[in-house]
Amino acid sequence: MSDLKVEIIKVGKLEPHPGADQKKQYTRTIIRRNSAICLKCNEEIESKHRHDFVSCGCGSIFVDGGRDYLRRGGELAKLKDTSIAREEPREKYEWED
Ligand SMILES: [Zn+2]
Repeated sequence: MSDLKVEIIKVGKLEPHPGADQKKQYTRTIIRRNSAICLKCNEEIESKHRHDFVSCGCGSIFVDGGRDYLRRGGELAKLKDTSIAREEPREKYEWED
């Protein structure tokens, strides 16, 4: 279990795009499906809400975070991501620089 890792992809992260106009300078991540297939046991697992921690049958991988964030872990080399997510431009919030 030496390659045990956890990876978190946060949503709502700020990603300025240099050169873009001010209104499209920031993006949010829209998650439609938070899921992955374990390449060891071939089970597909899906996290359906924020605290829905789901691991596969053989225990090699897990997904978590539902539609709020993409958190996955275990043997990431055995994990095939099947999530559906996209970045969407948004206007900047007042408290942002
Ligand atoms: Zn498995």
